[in-house]
Amino acid sequence: MEPNYRRCLSCRKVSQKGEFWRVVRVYPSRKVQLDEGMGRSAYLCPQASCLAAAQKKNRLGRILQASVPEQLYEMLQQRLAAIPAAQEHNVEGQHNRGKLNASGEPQQSLG
Ligand SMILES: [Zn+2]
Repeated sequence: MEPNYRRCLSCRKVSQKGEFWRVVRVYPSRKVQLDEGMGRSAYLCPQASCLAAAQKKNRLGRILQASVPEQLYEMLQQRLAAIPAAQEHNVEGQHNRGKLNASGEPQQSLG
């Protein structure tokens, strides 16, 4: 593995360090926190499925060998909600319906 690559603790995907959320068990306090600090680290894709898997089986806690505070998961869920690409699908469509008549209709073909 390249030096700047890391592996997601949930789905095992390998990607550049910057692509992941980093969770750190800080040394020596053993406090678990995000992004910053020196200590044992775990990496996680910014995806709902990976976050859920890390939380559900306490996989994150096992890897870090520490208890992960509920707040940390909440923070990650809030980050997830802030990513536009993860959320945009269901919002549109209903609103735009009335405006698409000019070009949106399928053409009728008579055989
Ligand atoms: Zn993942």
